[in-house]
Amino acid sequence: DLAYLNGDIMPIEKATVPIEDRGYQFGDGVYEYIASYAGRLFMLGAHLDRLERSMGGLDFPPIPRSRIKAAIVDLFERAGYDRAGIYIQITRGVAPRNHAFDPTLSPQVVMTIRQINALPENLHRDGITAITVRDIRWGRCDIKTIQLLANSLAKQKALSEGHSDAIFISDQNVVREGTSSNLFIVKGGQLITHPLTPNILPGITRMAIIDICRETDLKIDESFFTTDALYHADEVFLTGTVTEVMPVTQIDGRCIGDGNVGPLTRKLYDGLRQKALAGA
Ligand code: PMP
Repeated sequence: DLAYLNGDIMPIEKATVPIEDRGYQFGDGVYEYIASYAGRLFMLGAHLDRLERSMGGLDFPPIPRSRIKAAIVDLFERAGYDRAGIYIQITRGVAPRNHAFDPTLSPQVVMTIRQINALPENLHRDGITAITVRDIRWGRCDIKTIQLLANSLAKQKALSEGHSDAIFISDQNVVREGTSSNLFIVKGGQLITHPLTPNILPGITRMAIIDICRETDLKIDESFFTTDALYHADEVFLTGTVTEVMPVTQIDGRCIGDGNVGPLTRKLYDGLRQKALAGA
């Protein structure tokens, strides 16, 4: 497993960063996580677009897209994994600790690459159970920042209660997303997912699923819905680069639909896998 540190590639254990990196002290950084299927990076262009938007959202000086892309592809080729997960983190830079920052700081770019182990097959086959939690995150969840403490605590709460994941709910009971995934419900053959607002991450897998729906004439509605609609959905699933399409069959102790993985969830899981293996 390899790391990239501002232009150099080395074993992960050898890569270290200065303690005054603003990512370490302020969470002042953005990230991406990209997966490969059968030796090809999946939706690299969309990930680079989102990385640029995240950096812009925090007023980082731009880094040429071609440079970031070349670094990612170089690391991927050097590692030579068919199924790889690449973590890319860009922080504002290194400076004596101060809330205010010098706009001319040089961003620090680090990456790691590891072989991905597929999630246990029974999760996709049988689905997972989840809990809902109040969304206590900040107001710019559309920026993929490295500040994941609320996500991390929510995930851990779910695990400690014997469930696989947590779903963020607004103060008005609007269903937002998972701790590291977007959320879709199916009702009467139609899909609904939270619209793109500052309160959710614009997931690349979410985008791929919406594309598949349009290609296959499935109705997809990007609109707000509450926990009531969540509990009474026919099917619920989470989407993400790691999660792919994950069926959720029980939430807060209530069965979703008949408690089994539904047909549209299965169809979209197969559709996503096909798209990924075709190198879309
Ligand atoms: N929402 C959140 C909060 C996430 O952390 C992630 C995964 N990074 C997603 C959604 C899914 O995004 P993607 O499909 O791009 O992996």
